Amino acid sequence: MSASDLWTRDMLAPVGRLPTEQVRQLSESADFGTTVTEHMVMLNWSAEQGWHDGIVCPFGDLTINPVMSGLHNGQVVFEGLKVFRQSDGGLAGFRVVDHSRRLAASAHRLALPALPEDLFIASISELLQVDERWIPNGEDRSLYVRPTIFGTESTLALRPARTCTYLLLAFPTSAFFGQKAGSIAVWATTDYSRAAPGGTGEAKCAGNYAAGFIAQQQALAHDCQQVLWLDAAEKRWIEEMGGMNVFWMDAGALVTPPLSGTLLRGITRDSILALAARMGIPVEQRRVSLGEFCQRVAAGKITEVFACGTAAVIAPIGRIATTDGDLSIGGGPVTTRLRKVLTDIQYGRAADTEGWMFPFRW
Ligand SMILES: *Cc1c(COP(=O)(O)O)cnc(C)c1O
Repeated sequence: MSASDLWTRDMLAPVGRLPTEQVRQLSESADFGTTVTEHMVMLNWSAEQGWHDGIVCPFGDLTINPVMSGLHNGQVVFEGLKVFRQSDGGLAGFRVVDHSRRLAASAHRLALPALPEDLFIASISELLQVDERWIPNGEDRSLYVRPTIFGTESTLALRPARTCTYLLLAFPTSAFFGQKAGSIAVWATTDYSRAAPGGTGEAKCAGNYAAGFIAQQQALAHDCQQVLWLDAAEKRWIEEMGGMNVFWMDAGALVTPPLSGTLLRGITRDSILALAARMGIPVEQRRVSLGEFCQRVAAGKITEVFACGTAAVIAPIGRIATTDGDLSIGGGPVTTRLRKVLTDIQYGRAADTEGWMFPFRW
């Protein structure tokens, strides 16, 4: 079946739609992940039929079977990508095909079916067509698109679900940490682990977040917004933030932990590595212990630290709280330049030298 025959459209009658001025106000004032657009897209999958019954419909509650395996077995994966209004008025998504591939990889890890790339792209295009007016204008604003796949079979059996649903939602959004452009604080936990070798740390699976919330609560108690995760085996090596990857400038080189199988392969991370190399900044992917990191901050070698991810873009880290005390750092000229180079490409203000922008037109 071709991507275009798959969809049924079940639109709200125009009279049920919000007035355009209200949509504009809502979409241009929304914080991250709170305001959802008026429609959603769903596709079902079964072992016999494959992907079928695509529907574009008004956003609304789902009716779920209480025995649904996604709920009981936690078989749930997701993605997060952004669509930007371009300076020439068009619409473009950032690294859409890479997000599609990563969703397939996450699905594979959780024994869920992969959604073919043409359906992934078509589903986003369908949703953008009906909710285009929700894509905000303005500095730091974009449409955050959230695809998810979950098991829906009615069974407690401990095996992969034989029926699944793909659900696509969209959220007009601003930067993850809100309007305050300042830096964030992170708590380096040694009590809990995010990801063990061979586990699900490299997959975007919903359970990774649930497993991290207890440390996130500790972080809040230390007046920090995020957790800095160390490796599970030795609680020594810096890994990532649990929703963002981490970078720092050390003696003129940009450093980030290597993809060890327990880090999420951030697409922003990958983009920053590519942009920094093009800007002539030496880049190093290497393991660094929290102890070494603290020493190099104290010695003045580490001069900038930042977190990065689709939602947060690039956010300077101003404070790292550890059981041995606090470190003060922050962003700096490289953090600022990288953020500008990346966002200029995303909003179409600079040439898309890397071929990352995926235009949506219909
Ligand atoms: C999504 C995510 C990231 C960031 O990945 P991007 O592709 O840059 O958005 C980093 N770490 C974790 C655990 C994540 O879930």
